[in-house]
Amino acid sequence: MTKWPFLLWRFAIVCLLVSLPMTAAKAEVAGSAKNFSSRSCTLAGHAAERPEEILKLRPAFDCSADKLTKNTDMLWLIADIGDLQNGMVEPVLRFRAARQGAVLLHSVYPDGSTQTKRYDQADMTSRWRSPYAIALPLISRDGQFPQTVLIGAANPWDPSNWNDIELIEAKADVAMHEQSQLIGVLVAGLLFAPLLLDFMFFALIRQRFIFYHSLMTVAIMVNHICWSGLIFDLFPSATLVDRSWVAFIALAVLAFGGCMLVRSLCDPDKLGKWGAFSLKFMAWTTLTTTTLVMVFAEQLSLTGSLIFHAVYGSMAVIALGNLLRCAIKGDRMAMLQLLGLSGAAFIAICRVIRAMGWIGDLPIFDFGFYIAILAEALATSIVVGYRAMQMRREHQQALLVKRGLEEIAYTDELTGIPNRRAFQATFFEFFESKEKRDQVCAIAIIDIDNFKKVNDQYGHAAGDIVLMQVAAIIKSQCRQGDYFARFGGEEFVLLLSSGTREDIARSAQRFVESCAAYDFKCSEHDIGQVTISIGLNFLNNYAEADLETNFRLADKALYKAKKSGRNQVNFALPYNPEFAAA
Ligand code: GH3
Ligand code: MG
Ligand code: MG
Repeated sequence: MTKWPFLLWRFAIVCLLVSLPMTAAKAEVAGSAKNFSSRSCTLAGHAAERPEEILKLRPAFDCSADKLTKNTDMLWLIADIGDLQNGMVEPVLRFRAARQGAVLLHSVYPDGSTQTKRYDQADMTSRWRSPYAIALPLISRDGQFPQTVLIGAANPWDPSNWNDIELIEAKADVAMHEQSQLIGVLVAGLLFAPLLLDFMFFALIRQRFIFYHSLMTVAIMVNHICWSGLIFDLFPSATLVDRSWVAFIALAVLAFGGCMLVRSLCDPDKLGKWGAFSLKFMAWTTLTTTTLVMVFAEQLSLTGSLIFHAVYGSMAVIALGNLLRCAIKGDRMAMLQLLGLSGAAFIAICRVIRAMGWIGDLPIFDFGFYIAILAEALATSIVVGYRAMQMRREHQQALLVKRGLEEIAYTDELTGIPNRRAFQATFFEFFESKEKRDQVCAIAIIDIDNFKKVNDQYGHAAGDIVLMQVAAIIKSQCRQGDYFARFGGEEFVLLLSSGTREDIARSAQRFVESCAAYDFKCSEHDIGQVTISIGLNFLNNYAEADLETNFRLADKALYKAKKSGRNQVNFALPYNPEFAAA
């Protein structure tokens, strides 16, 4: 019953593995884009000025390499398109968008004429391009495209995003959008597999780390729904700002779940007190900072983006640092998690190097994130599944040990039959069962006659063998439903509940007779006959099923049996044993 989640888990891993190359194949970008960031210069501030006034400030524009890191509420970007659009039928400007405000596009044509177009939030939402861009048309006039464009962005959340402005054929832009939307949705859909498995693992072993993994998976899914633009299809009234909200909060939840997952999966001894604290601290800091920055996004503009980068950078350093530290100390869980993250880390590093201009552009740097995230989801899923299986195994082993200990605690060492503790537990359990209460039932105390003599005559070891043999004789004659235990010393106790009173009395008589007929022996001695006496008490009213009272009554009967010459059964309550002879 508990095996099928693990089978499903393996199946899901195979599905993910198969989907990776498929996703990679889909990542071929349609059409060629022309990045003209090298031909652009920026000017920060000047929020109230008109584009014509800004154009006059052209000498004040910064064209250096770090031009886009300026802190500003209003960013002007002038781009010389020149002949870049040559050969293009319907070029569009595609740029990375985070959550900036309205955008203004001022085009300057070869004949010196100009045209200004403003795009508000609603326009921006409709021009959203998966996975992270906005496309504005490069408007032609009299068959001519503008030579220069001036772009004004209010609240440029992260000005470094403006590095990604490129000129692309409208058809290629749409193809790229559709393709990346498809991949985004595919990735979000694939993540249902680990999520479903998490539910099953959680049902099996209620461990927090599974919950953290589910949080991460849901966060990645939600993030993909946002970045693929699926959010606009699912919620037609959603705007670019709503998308930013959801995407960034999902990112924070991902970071929170990730830190907490690392914290719960790493070996606590290797992680250490400070390692555990730093992860928990970063988890909560990321979550609260993101929420606060989003609430005050309008006021924080670039500062918000800087805070974001600082917090997420620290979070990554702390999470990776702790993983690395634990991995170096030999923590297998940490190694596996690091391995899972290596893809995403590789792509991130490549993108940084690309931004620095040290390496050229490759589609894999953008679409690679999808593959890296899937690989990460796969790796984390393996880690979670592995840990879940490991914990289940540990749990089962602990159960076995517990059962073993229980068996030792409830078994008489010498005879191998249940002991006094086991008998007491069974007695109470028996009387808790309603149906059993209606059965005829008796308690019998069995005592070996003159056992002291056996010990004295043949030694204690021989006495032990007699005890074992008596136990074996009675056990072999017990009927289903009887419960036989050693009560202590050379006394045994029996709970008889099979059949009528006559059946029970007859059983007791048979025990006495079988013992008396047995030829007791041990390796050194021929002991011969050993008899037993039984005190038997029928339990009339089970509502008063009190072991002590019933035991005392049986004990009294045993005393009478001993007094009457031993080797016999005596009944506690008035009972006609004539039947036995019949
Ligand atoms: P009675 O017929 O009246 O029961 O006589 P008895 O000799 O059996 O009397 P009593 O019950 O007083 O003696 C019980 C003896 O059983 C005393 C003790 O040495 C012995 N005994 C108790 N436990 C063990 C055991 O585990 N092994 C052995 N060999 N002897 C035991
Ligand atoms: Mg005794
Ligand atoms: Mg005795």
